[in-house]
Amino acid sequence: MLVSLLQRRINAFMRELRAPLLTSDLTVVMRETPVGAAISMLNGAIIVIAGWGHAPAALLLAWGIYTIGLNAIVLGQSLARPTRGAPPRRPASERTVARLRLFVTLQALPWGALACYAAMQPPDLLRDLALVATNGMAAGAAFMLHRVLWAAVRYLSISLGGVLAGVGLSALSGDGTEGGWALAAFAVTYGLFLNHFAFGFSMLGRERDKVLADLSGAVHELEQAHDRISTLAYADSVTGLPNRKAFMERLERETARAASGEGPGCAALMMDLDRFKAVNDGYGHAMGDKLLQEVGVRLRGAVRGRDMVARLGGDEFAVITDAQGGELRELGERIVAVMAAPVVIDGVTLQTGTSVGAAICPRDGAEADTLLRLADIALGRVKETGRGAFQTFDARLGRSLEAANVIADALRGALTAGDLKVRYQPKIRLADGAVAGAEALVRWRHPLLGDITPDRFLPVAAERGMMREVTDCVLGAVLRDLTRWRREGAEVGPVAINLHPLDMKSPEGLLDRLRAARAEGFGKGDLIIEITEGCFVGRGGDAAWVVIDAIADLGFELSLDDFGTGQSALSHLRALPVSELKIDRTFVSGIVDSPRDSAIVAATLALARGMGVRAVAEGIETEEQLAALRSMGAELGQGHLWARSLPADELLRFALARKAA
Ligand code: C2E
Ligand code: CA
Ligand code: CA
Repeated sequence: MLVSLLQRRINAFMRELRAPLLTSDLTVVMRETPVGAAISMLNGAIIVIAGWGHAPAALLLAWGIYTIGLNAIVLGQSLARPTRGAPPRRPASERTVARLRLFVTLQALPWGALACYAAMQPPDLLRDLALVATNGMAAGAAFMLHRVLWAAVRYLSISLGGVLAGVGLSALSGDGTEGGWALAAFAVTYGLFLNHFAFGFSMLGRERDKVLADLSGAVHELEQAHDRISTLAYADSVTGLPNRKAFMERLERETARAASGEGPGCAALMMDLDRFKAVNDGYGHAMGDKLLQEVGVRLRGAVRGRDMVARLGGDEFAVITDAQGGELRELGERIVAVMAAPVVIDGVTLQTGTSVGAAICPRDGAEADTLLRLADIALGRVKETGRGAFQTFDARLGRSLEAANVIADALRGALTAGDLKVRYQPKIRLADGAVAGAEALVRWRHPLLGDITPDRFLPVAAERGMMREVTDCVLGAVLRDLTRWRREGAEVGPVAINLHPLDMKSPEGLLDRLRAARAEGFGKGDLIIEITEGCFVGRGGDAAWVVIDAIADLGFELSLDDFGTGQSALSHLRALPVSELKIDRTFVSGIVDSPRDSAIVAATLALARGMGVRAVAEGIETEEQLAALRSMGAELGQGHLWARSLPADELLRFALARKAA
């Protein structure tokens, strides 16, 4: 058992002996080198001084010069190149191994030689000193070199081996030395003990290294996990780009820096994809995702290294850049250009494109939210004026924004004060000129701003969430007038009211009012609901069909307004429960001079006849237009030729007068 224990110990020792020299081990050795060299010099000096006269002067001097000189060089070198910092753990080069071998040999040699010489002498002061010093140096070396076991063994073998050599040599020469066997035995025992000691420390060091490596591995893994978590929170899963959260945080930092005058200024660019919905609807979401990924790659390629590209959501992308002036414009135009190239995915060629709007900090705004909103407004403006271009937010946009703010504030006031009024434009039966109903049009006269047309304030109402109140106000006024007319026995025919696409999104109030009207006995002949194609095409279009069906189910007629100007397909018309088409004013205005317009009007009239619905020509201004429409067989019309929009009472008078005529 003891044997096998010993065997195992020896095996471990041999393994450790062959362990490759690591740079980190070497650094431990080098760190102790200056102290070791200084001690060697000191011991060397003591030996020379104390041993003077006890040995041949030349021999002692040569020994002293070698020992002290060698260590003076080593000390000088290690002081000139101090080791610091954590050493890298990699195998040392062959050359380094060879140099360490030489270093250890050169260092051990004088002590081995001294011990050898001393062991051959009869006991005297030099012999005592030499053996004590050699033992001391051996112990120090075993400790200094414990990280490189073979180096420690080499040092011990040479230095303590000198004792054995001396004892052996003097035995061979026949005189022997007094107590030589004891010296040899001590040298062997002591050597074994020091070897064991170096080995133990070497193993301890290795264990410590392993624990440290494990610990730093665990820390590294923790850091990676942390990175992954924050990547998840800050990255868009489809494109891998930073998400809105990451974008806003960066924009907040950049704007804070730019606004404080520390940085050079920055810009936020906003963009969205043209026709992305069509790709999603037509080819599926997987295709849409691939398109988004490609867009991400193209955007990253278009911006500069330190710019941030993020996906804000849906088909919305944004960029933060510190490019300015001409550079900013170039960047924006480059993005437009790279996005205009067709994308081929799974053999399908997709033609998308983008427009880019930008806002600059601090010129346009100093806060991240503001900057992004202004960039979005600039983007909206690009899209209005033709897609596929780049535009920065400018003061004109700022003024229109200001104007919108003024209108929004005033409109809020008008809604509470009941300043919105309803006027009626009569619908005329072309055959005899009689009034066949009217269209309710909202009117607003502001005490200071004067008349504000629906074209100006309705977009603001839509944008600022006031559309529901506007519709509610108009419908309320119309129902009041209808009730009064019914009481008075007046006959004006059905009144049409206009709905906005947003009315389809939150229709509860509207449907409640219509139900109430229905309960009061109003129906088909009283109220027509005008919708545009915008009401059921595009976002939330599906929900709109439910509202449209609900209105039709209540028994009110539906009219499709501005027919031909929207983007809807005829297939929609097939499913839509409309009783009326309104031919847009733009076609009517060209009916006399433009063969195309007159062809469109004729076709629409034929379409309406074929579908069994009425057609109403809008915006008739001249007798020529009227004649042309009549000749095409149009039955109903409205326009300035007869009347603009009239207050309720005037409409009644107008209707009576037409009837009499
Ligand atoms: P629309 O529904 O197409 O309304 C017809 C517009 O044409 C009205 O403009 C009317 O005044 C104008 N118009 C009628 N005859 C002629 C003509 O012979 N020549 C010319 N040049 N114009 C004529 P208005 O009142 O300015 O309304 C503009 C648009 O605003 C309307 O277009 C409609 O889309 C919307 N709108 C008006 N009132 C309301 C409303 O109460 N609710 C909603 N949601 N939209 C409304
Ligand atoms: Ca209308
Ligand atoms: Ca219209």
